[in-house]
Amino acid sequence: MRSIIRGNVPNSYTHYKDARNDLAERIGWFCSYCEMPVRNMIEVEHIHPVANGGNELDWDNFLLSCRYCNSVKKNNNMNRVGFFWPDVDNTPLAFEYSESNIIEPATGLQPNERSSALSSINLMGLNRTPHSGNEPTDADSRWIARINAIGIINESYNDWLTCPTQQFARQIARTATGHGFYSFWIMKFNNVQIVINEINRAFLGTYEPQYNNGIKVIRQNGSF
Ligand SMILES: [Zn+2]
Repeated sequence: MRSIIRGNVPNSYTHYKDARNDLAERIGWFCSYCEMPVRNMIEVEHIHPVANGGNELDWDNFLLSCRYCNSVKKNNNMNRVGFFWPDVDNTPLAFEYSESNIIEPATGLQPNERSSALSSINLMGLNRTPHSGNEPTDADSRWIARINAIGIINESYNDWLTCPTQQFARQIARTATGHGFYSFWIMKFNNVQIVINEINRAFLGTYEPQYNNGIKVIRQNGSF
């Protein structure tokens, strides 16, 4: 789950949906949870559901979500507590991505952190995939987009090995923004810092975890 910087509120809104373009300008047209690119029908999602007391028009309560993550999440979280959120937490360090298991809590988490990571995965159904026992609904196309992206990622990686240039790193970053699923790109190019840097630059509003003497710095307003 890419960690994002929403920034200060750019406008006042009379309806939460009016914040869509401003959000997309800051963090790109991607689901903040599953990382799928959404060019149309992207939804402004309330982190703290309005039905559970969340502020309907508060910029800091907004993320962009695909309709699938939003519809699985519904009003199922009472508040922000017990989950990791991409606008305040070091979410890239909370989850591990792989082609086989999709998304899991990162190894080495404390028990309470692992619980928050699992709760976040379950809240949006981020690991739903056919024949896994954790089935997507018929309407849910996140897994199809993810499989397509993983194919492109693997091809891009193989091509990188034969053409490891700065220009090609930039092209890979453009391809990454086209196909989305940021964390799978980061997973595959894990040891290729030149590509990682270009990808982080290309995905708008990406927050990179900060370290102090090798120790992760907890994000402001976050718990991780
Ligand atoms: Zn999503």
